[in-house]
Amino acid sequence: MINGAHPRTRMIHYRTEVGDAQPAVTPLFQSSAFGVGSPYFYTRKNNPNIAEFEEAVCIMEGAAHGVALSTGMAAIKVCLDLVRPGQTILLSGLLYGCTVKLVKRHCERYGIRLALRDLSVKDFQLDAEEDVAMAFFETPTNPFLRTIDIAAVAARVKARCPNALVIVDNTWATPVFQRPLECGADISLHSATKYLSGHSDVMGGVVLTNDAELAELIRQERFYSGMVMDPFAAWLLRRSLNTIYVRLEEQGKTTERMVAYLRTLPKVAEVYYPHIDGTQLTGYGGIIFVQLREESGESFSKIVSNLSCFGSGTGMACVSSMIAQPYTGSHASMDDAEKEAMGLNRGLIRFCFGLERPEDLMADLESVLGPSSTRQLETASRV
Ligand code: PLP
Repeated sequence: MINGAHPRTRMIHYRTEVGDAQPAVTPLFQSSAFGVGSPYFYTRKNNPNIAEFEEAVCIMEGAAHGVALSTGMAAIKVCLDLVRPGQTILLSGLLYGCTVKLVKRHCERYGIRLALRDLSVKDFQLDAEEDVAMAFFETPTNPFLRTIDIAAVAARVKARCPNALVIVDNTWATPVFQRPLECGADISLHSATKYLSGHSDVMGGVVLTNDAELAELIRQERFYSGMVMDPFAAWLLRRSLNTIYVRLEEQGKTTERMVAYLRTLPKVAEVYYPHIDGTQLTGYGGIIFVQLREESGESFSKIVSNLSCFGSGTGMACVSSMIAQPYTGSHASMDDAEKEAMGLNRGLIRFCFGLERPEDLMADLESVLGPSSTRQLETASRV
């Protein structure tokens, strides 16, 4: 029966082979090396915990091959290494700041042409002389949560350059709500540090593909570069996956209520939430953006210091709610002109809603963004 079951059921029950001891969960193989004849050989190549995590993510996303890496950035880096000098990378204009920085540095260093494009529009620019080797994007986008049609991008790019790789960073959509490979992407990748972990206690990345040759190239890159996931990280992540569907369903419900609430607040100019089409994106978790009417950095720090149910800093997609300012956080590595081109200002706030009671989150936000909050913020700034 298990073979025909939902990915949620199959993922929870999946265990890698560990012999006759029959532990309830796969123990941690904190071992750098394995004996002659072991399929694992050396942990930089593979390890039972890493293999189990990879297969669990593959089950969720319907992928044939998974390769786990030390971080989400490492997952992106091994993909960039597939592009040759002189070729072109089509890069979405709306992306995580460190991804933009990494791709720009990589292209400069290796003589790769970089074309920044708005891939959310159907007829995005595709120049005749461009030898496109890769189209890379997040959907929904960071920031602003615009959705990009994966099938449409794949069709348009491959019609011109059949060997081009379409790569989707699926971190924010998650395997629970979006399966890029089924929409025509060649590679889907994740920062496992976010929802796959959900507890802000581990870093990791994973690359998924249905192409055996691509998977082998990425495995070799991981082996020789040493960007492999740590076994304990894999063990923690495997444990976190058991609750990912429940976490995301709950975070999604809370987020819908918080979006409706935030839209009633006079200090809020706009709330960004993705379009769930039910086909490519079948639901959504907890990360949203809010554009405040007042665009001062000072007001962000006041807001943060007046909140008690929201953590601040770079963490997100975890069980506790978080608040961040992309301008000085996720996109800090970009210069002011780049941020401006992206439409980022200091008044844009990112919320990630966790598993707290929504009523408590609303009460907390009411105290800083509600109609009577001005006086309280002024009081806080005097002490
Ligand atoms: N991709 C996205 C969409 C992210 O938000 C992040 C980090 O915030 C990364 C990749 C990088 O992941 P990591 O921090 O695990 O290297």
